[in-house]
Order: sequence, then structure tokens, then C-alpha cells
Amino acid sequence: MLNNVLMPEYPQIVSLPASPEGVVAQLETYRGQFLREAESVEKAAQAGNAAELQAFRDGWLGRKQGLLAQLNEHWLKPAPGEAKKLIGQQLNRLRGEAEAAMERIEAVLEAARLQAQLASETLDVTLPARAPRGASHPLTQVTERILGIFHGLGYSLAEGPEMESAWYNFDALNIPESHPARDDQDTLYLGPDLPGHLLRTHTSPGQIRVMEQQAPPLRVAVPGRVYRRDAPDATHSPMFHQVEGLAVDEDLSFADLKGTLEHFARAMFGAATRTRFRASYFPFTEPSAEMDASCFACAGSGCRTCKNTGWIEVLGCGMVHPEVFRAVAKKNPVYETGKWRGFAFGMGVERMAMILYGLDDIQRFYSGDLRFLEQFAAHADGA
Ligand SMILES: [Zn+2]
Repeated sequence: MLNNVLMPEYPQIVSLPASPEGVVAQLETYRGQFLREAESVEKAAQAGNAAELQAFRDGWLGRKQGLLAQLNEHWLKPAPGEAKKLIGQQLNRLRGEAEAAMERIEAVLEAARLQAQLASETLDVTLPARAPRGASHPLTQVTERILGIFHGLGYSLAEGPEMESAWYNFDALNIPESHPARDDQDTLYLGPDLPGHLLRTHTSPGQIRVMEQQAPPLRVAVPGRVYRRDAPDATHSPMFHQVEGLAVDEDLSFADLKGTLEHFARAMFGAATRTRFRASYFPFTEPSAEMDASCFACAGSGCRTCKNTGWIEVLGCGMVHPEVFRAVAKKNPVYETGKWRGFAFGMGVERMAMILYGLDDIQRFYSGDLRFLEQFAAHADGA
């Protein structure tokens, strides 16, 4: 293909014509020669030949030997006054055309280069796409699974701020000044610019905020990040996730709490799951309990998942303490009447995920290691 294209020859300068008409006519001749060569070089460029363009550029626009430079030197410089103006105008016009043509040919050459590259990189567009599909983080998956179960029981969803006041995080939840949880060994306080503010240590302040806004009856689940002053290790992280639940109505009892949480345990771990409630203590519930579920991995006979106890600790729960209603009543007097009963529960999402997936290091959730995370894509698909 390249054989069809002749290498351009250097245009030869002739001596300055005597008359202005002679100058115009000779420049018109040069222009005609230029346009023919430009056409030929453009064809070469379409075939990807850059050498043609270089020779063409040198011949016409070269800084010393190029025709335009020579016309400048031998025509324009020695020309007498009135002829200088005419020659200058004509040369400028030719130079403008030459530069525009060079740019156009360069663009053609670049397009040809790109075309050749695309052709050499064999791309079969008929192959099915193999780009990996994204999936939710395992903690998001577990959170959504927990929320889905409570959604099925008529619980709505609420979220609270991660920066809380000591009032919402402690006082309103009946956690007195002297309680060790308020110690700055355990709580991340936000420093002198925000006195009395902290990163919430649990999602329970969300319950207070919901009750301040809503009159009973209510059922609400509150998911979110919480913060503790813990050094990271296999079972601790200064940030982790909880899901909290709250129900308030006129005649709720501990039997309602048990029924709700037994349903949750079976939905979470399987229909054969049994539960047991152990007495416990939380400042904001009375009575309080811990709920265990029979181990889904060994059905209670003892294994690694349940540390050979046959039971898995699932969550903390209890009946809402009257002091909590009293605190809420300061903003929402509906809760003053004393006719409301409520129950609340809370669980750690990381803990739940570690049990479900048989993990022994909480840090894996935060490492961003795709080799770990990609294993959960199948779960997200429901596969
Ligand atoms: Zn077990």
C-alpha cells in the first residue's frame, strides 16, 4: 500500500519575481504543489505512515530549509517597501494553510494509530461479561437479615446519631454518674470543645429518641455503629455494630418478650432452635435477661461453635425500666401516665456474623481483604 505513495520532494525556491502579479502567480503555483503533496501525505497517514508527514513538514515548514523559511529569507527580507506588504500577506496565508493541513494530517495519523492498536488487541465482544458482581459486606448482610426478621413482626426502622450527649447515652437510660461504663476508660469522649458529648457506646439512645418523638404503641428496631475504648484484638474493636429493638404498649409482659425473641432465634438459626433465658442486669431494664439459643451447628451436643456448651449467647433483653419512661416523659409527657409497658433487646452484629460464619477474628470484617469478603458474595445472592 505504501508503494503507491511517493515521498514528497523538497519544493525548490525560485528567484523573486519582478512584478507583484509575478509574486502572486508564483505563490499560487507553490500553493497548488502544497495541496497535491498534502493529499498524498494524508493518504500515507491513513495507512499509518508517519515518515511521509515528517518529510512533508520539513520541506514546507522546516525552520531553516523549509520553503516558507526560505521565501521569508530570500523574498520578504530584500523586498522593497510596497512589495514587502504584499509578499508578507501572501506568505502568511500560505503558512496558515500549511499549518492547518499539518494538524489535520496529524489527527488522521493518530486515528490510524488507534485503529491499528484496537485491531491488534483482539477483543471478542461476543464473550459474556466476566466482571465480578459486587455484594454487600457480610456485616451489612447480617444486619439486613436481623432487621428483616423484625420487619416481619411489624417493627419499623429508626437510626440515631453516632455522636451523642451523655444524657441520651447514659442518664436517660438510668446509667448513673457512678456507673463504670461512664468512665473514660470505656467511653470515647469528644474532648473539651464538645463537653458532655461522646461517641455512643450502644444503640440504646436511639430508643430514647424514638419515644420522645412517638407515642405508644410502638415497635422499632435501631441498627448502627457504636464505639468503645477497646484496643483491637480478635474479639474486640473500638467500633462495632449493634441492632437494638424496643416495643412499648399498654399490656406488654415478659411473655411477649420471650415470644418475640424465640421467634427471632428460630428465624435466625433454624426452626429447631431452642432458647433459654438467664437472669442478668442492665440499668435500663428490669427484670433483665440474656437469651441463649441452642447451637445450630451441633444441635446442642457441643462443638467448636458453642465452645462445647451446646448453647450460644445471642442477646441481652429485659422489660423497660420505669426510670427510662420517666426520663422520656421530660420531653414527651405521654410516657408519664404509668400505663405503658415495654421490652427492649440488643445484639452485636459482628458477634452474630462470627457465629453464623464460624469466624474467630473480628478484625477480618474491617480489613478490606477481598479474598475474605468475596466469600460472602454467594450469601448475598441467596445461593
Ligand atoms: Zn455447638
